Amino acid sequence: MDIHEYQAKEILRDFGVGIPQGALAYSPEQATYRAREMGGDRWVVKAQVHAGGRGKAGGVKLCGSDTEIQEVTEAMFGQKLVTHQTGPEGKGIYRVYVEAAVPIAREIYLGFVLDRASQRVMIVASREGGMEIEDISAQRPDSIVRATVEPAVGLQEFQCREIAFALGIKPALVQQMVRTLLGCYRAFRDLDATMVEVNPLVVTSDDRILALDAKMTFDTNALFRHPQISELRDKSQEDPRESRAADRGLSYVGLDGNIGCIVNGAGLAMATMDTIKLAGGEPANFLDIGGGATPERVAKAFRLVMSDKNVQAILVNIFAGINRCDWVAEGVVRALRDEPVDVPVVVRLAGTNVKEGQQILAQSGLPLIRATTLMEAAERTVMAWRADTHRNPKLKAV
Ligand code: ADP
Ligand code: MG
Repeated sequence: MDIHEYQAKEILRDFGVGIPQGALAYSPEQATYRAREMGGDRWVVKAQVHAGGRGKAGGVKLCGSDTEIQEVTEAMFGQKLVTHQTGPEGKGIYRVYVEAAVPIAREIYLGFVLDRASQRVMIVASREGGMEIEDISAQRPDSIVRATVEPAVGLQEFQCREIAFALGIKPALVQQMVRTLLGCYRAFRDLDATMVEVNPLVVTSDDRILALDAKMTFDTNALFRHPQISELRDKSQEDPRESRAADRGLSYVGLDGNIGCIVNGAGLAMATMDTIKLAGGEPANFLDIGGGATPERVAKAFRLVMSDKNVQAILVNIFAGINRCDWVAEGVVRALRDEPVDVPVVVRLAGTNVKEGQQILAQSGLPLIRATTLMEAAERTVMAWRADTHRNPKLKAV
């Protein structure tokens, strides 16, 4: 789960990391009086969206007066900000952060990630702050400093000093740098983050080390231990299809194709997507209804998949271990009776109570296409989709 820059900054501040003075606003008027309350004469207005690259896309603006803040925020609120990280549809701006402009002497890149190869938390830093890490590794790989944390003892001060020296931090500021590194590391570890990125971390001309931008991503499977982090979720920044699924306890990932998949188990979902591709189709989603899916759950899954206007065929692929094929079949029949769909539906069932399941499907009188193996199911889905898009010109073939 991602959170906003201002939220990440608040968290990091509690762990001892320096951040500039700032305040959140939900309207242009609020933005101006936030700036007035804060004082000073130069502010940076920052669109709060779950994506980086805002500066280049017009989502970070330096302002020198109330009227300027008013103008800038009026143009931001309600708009979609499109950065290289958002995709072409962009992300809606509903909050802005007004921050005191700080005099930057130098910008540093700082990231904490999970390094899967060493199975350790890894610190990645560079003198080339402000640039994206991908560009730094492509253009200035020699500038990158790395350190891995030994989990038994955690990040050590000597490691922080080494990083500070490698980045050329002047001796008087090394202790501040150590505190910053330790703070980020503790926030990462204590809150089950999977990523903390401060880009840029700046040294100001008056010798302060401040996180000027902050990004944190959390392990969703650990959120139950951190209710204060779960509360930071902002649905306006998520794919609406995915939020709806999460609210219903289903795992859903929206994709760009047009074959909807209803599957149980993540492994089977992957295999199903691969097989659809092999058969010449493109999956529209990854939907895992999980084990022990009741008819109600299957019906919910159908509704969710059909709410995606790109879906032109549905493949239900169930391998029932804990699940029961008769339940799933009942769910499919119920869903289609309640809300008939105008696209072909292929069902492949295997495992527990498969005979009963097949019987329910056969006796339903619904125009379902049945299949026995996964390959057969994928081929029939793609075939039915092609035939259907041919018959029905309102569905555009890809
Ligand atoms: P993004 O990474 O999404 O583009 P940042 O928060 O990193 O957004 O801001 C982009 C750039 O704007 C920074 O690299 C920095 O140069 C400048 N900037 C951001 N916040 C401030 C601030 N408070 N004072 C001065 N400059 C700032
Ligand atoms: Mg940044």
